[in-house]
Amino acid sequence: MKYTVNEKGYYGKFGGAFIPEMLYPNVEELRTRYLDIIYEAGFQKEFQKLLRDYVGRPTPLYLAKRLSEKYNTNIYLKREDLCHTGAHKVNNTIGQILLARRLGKQKIIAETGAGQHGVATATVCALMGMECVVYMGKIDMERQRPNVERMRILGATVVPALSGSMTLKDATNEAMRHWINNPTDTHYIIGSVVGPHPYPDMVARFQSVISEEMKKQLQEEIGNPFPDYVFACVGGGSNAAGAFYHFLNDEHVTLVAAEAAGHGVDSGESAATTALGKPGVLHGSKTILMQTDDGQVVEPYSISAGLDYPGIGPQHAHLFDVGRAKFVSITDEEAMNAGIELSRSEGIIPAIESAHALAAMNKFTFEKDDVVVVNLSGRGDKDLETYIRWGKY
Ligand SMILES: *Cc1c(COP(=O)(O)O)cnc(C)c1O
Repeated sequence: MKYTVNEKGYYGKFGGAFIPEMLYPNVEELRTRYLDIIYEAGFQKEFQKLLRDYVGRPTPLYLAKRLSEKYNTNIYLKREDLCHTGAHKVNNTIGQILLARRLGKQKIIAETGAGQHGVATATVCALMGMECVVYMGKIDMERQRPNVERMRILGATVVPALSGSMTLKDATNEAMRHWINNPTDTHYIIGSVVGPHPYPDMVARFQSVISEEMKKQLQEEIGNPFPDYVFACVGGGSNAAGAFYHFLNDEHVTLVAAEAAGHGVDSGESAATTALGKPGVLHGSKTILMQTDDGQVVEPYSISAGLDYPGIGPQHAHLFDVGRAKFVSITDEEAMNAGIELSRSEGIIPAIESAHALAAMNKFTFEKDDVVVVNLSGRGDKDLETYIRWGKY
């Protein structure tokens, strides 16, 4: 079984590039050039150096002793929360901005929902001295004030999307429109393993540094590069794609994807895409998404802004379809409890997205000598307000 993309841009039944005619030249330029550019020696040298000196990689693989005792197994945390800007997203934005420069682009655009990808994009634009425009739904701008100001401090222009529900999908539409109108000088940095081919594959390759490091670190630590389990949360799926990447063909490694069940899978307020969704086209690729019977995208809900997305990347749709990854749904309550549990037992306050991955461990029974790796995608600083409103600690 092949789990990575084929020459046509598909993962099994999912993927492809469903784009308006006018975007074809931009996407085609990327498709024909991305692999040559990113595996060229000079690119790799610059990328690896920035990952080390700017992002702070390799991130530690930390044996969580007290948490391991509770679960009666061996739990390692991959500390993406220690990356510069507080999460894994910057691995991808660094890769894409280096690519943009080699394509001769001067301007960067991005869309953002909660603002985390906007901040990671504004960060690398400041680093490279490139112009940055971030589209964000007007409602999201009001809900995520601190991230809007972070982007502005970093020198980005934040443009409110005023159409539709004034949230992420409207911001995406505006960014697409901008790209159609500025095809030659602009690169569009997509923030997860979503969008038309080659984005899902390109972003997964940039994030695959996560599992590459995990293997090396496990080899050093326990003399075996393979864990029994890898857990990761899934919004669009980029941290999970990176954490799974180098284990996809090792079927003895159980891959677990945690999606957000919000108030419960059947509550009408959730983002449990595989539990509720059906095949369809979202943001330029065929995948699984939450939709009504007549094909309208359902507004997702999660306490965690980063998991509040109605679809998943096409590779994850495929891993779900063929059963290579197990998908579990985690409610707000389960995630918040897991976030508090990690804070109390290890002194690490996780992002609420990452708390979903931690909570997913409760759905499994481990053996005493199992090796369990949880990808801790981000830190909880940005979620302090949500923890306070939750209040149960
Ligand atoms: C954005 C974000 C996510 C969700 O995005 P993926 O593409 O699914 O990884 C998860 N965790 C954190 C901390 C985030 O900021």
